[in-house]
Amino acid sequence: RSKDAGGGKFHHYEPQLHVAAEERRVLEQALRKALTNDELHLTYQPVVDAGSGLLTGFEALVRWTHPELGPISPVKFIPLAEDARLIGPIGEWVLRSACAEAANWPGDARIAVNVSPEQLHNPGFVAVVASALANSGLPARRLELEVTESVFMRDDTGAVKVLERILDLGVRLSLDDFGTGYSSLGYLSRTRFSTIKIDRSFVIGASKKVPEAIAIIRAVVALAQSLGMATTAEGVETEDEHVMVQQLGCTKVQGYYFGRPLPVEEARVLAQRAAYNREAA
Ligand code: C2E
Ligand code: MG
Ligand code: MG
Ligand code: MG
Repeated sequence: RSKDAGGGKFHHYEPQLHVAAEERRVLEQALRKALTNDELHLTYQPVVDAGSGLLTGFEALVRWTHPELGPISPVKFIPLAEDARLIGPIGEWVLRSACAEAANWPGDARIAVNVSPEQLHNPGFVAVVASALANSGLPARRLELEVTESVFMRDDTGAVKVLERILDLGVRLSLDDFGTGYSSLGYLSRTRFSTIKIDRSFVIGASKKVPEAIAIIRAVVALAQSLGMATTAEGVETEDEHVMVQQLGCTKVQGYYFGRPLPVEEARVLAQRAAYNREAA
């Protein structure tokens, strides 16, 4: 470390390596305390019907504000939590909090919660979902769990069983970031997904008229339709992107164009307004 600074043969690349490793170590230690120190909170991003523009629900997205380092992106700390075996407790906190917060909102907006593969490889997770629903009073049909294709990459028999038992509770499943991971489609016939979420990379490509991106969205929409699933276009930022994914037949849309991830109070107001509009209609 610093004691051989200026001396060691490999000094030219070592300092950076140490910074990365050191940063990881510091963040991991901090993350261990984040839950008990109340440093996590949830934001809620609206998901809307592509045709009517009406709110269908929200995706819960976790946020971590470190007392000194400030906000740290989930893109950074979720993989860290997965490596450090902290995703179990953090994921459970996210699920229980999202159910508890959304249960109090007027109307029947759905609430989607991201679940890491590690959580689904733990059979005890089914009981956690059941208890999050029971404690909050959120009806199971209002909860949706988002899983990625990576769940099906390693030996997945355990995870598939867990997903089946979650479906038996009446909870829905959606397939997140579709097209960015594992390419075998066999699992689509084994596990009942309600929605396929098309990754933002394809949305960007389609709006730039990249033929391959357009072809892929078309194919995914056709596949989803024939399997009775909805399709959500992720990360729609502009009107052009919205028009494009709507023309391609995506049934739901999500992105900054419709709304950023919102603090819980603002999400509640939006849910209330949506419930009112629906009653008035
Ligand atoms: P994701 O599940 O695909 O979530 C969508 C991400 O895209 C979110 O980033 C969201 O803020 C961002 N996004 C939404 N609309 C737009 C847009 O129009 N343009 C762009 N450029 N981005 C948009 P976020 O909140 O930083 O989360 C990143 C990822 O972290 C999530 O991707 C998910 O994989 C993971 N994550 C977040 N919260 C949780 C959680 O509670 N549990 C687990 N396991 N993973 C989580
Ligand atoms: Mg997601
Ligand atoms: Mg996604
Ligand atoms: Mg994504």
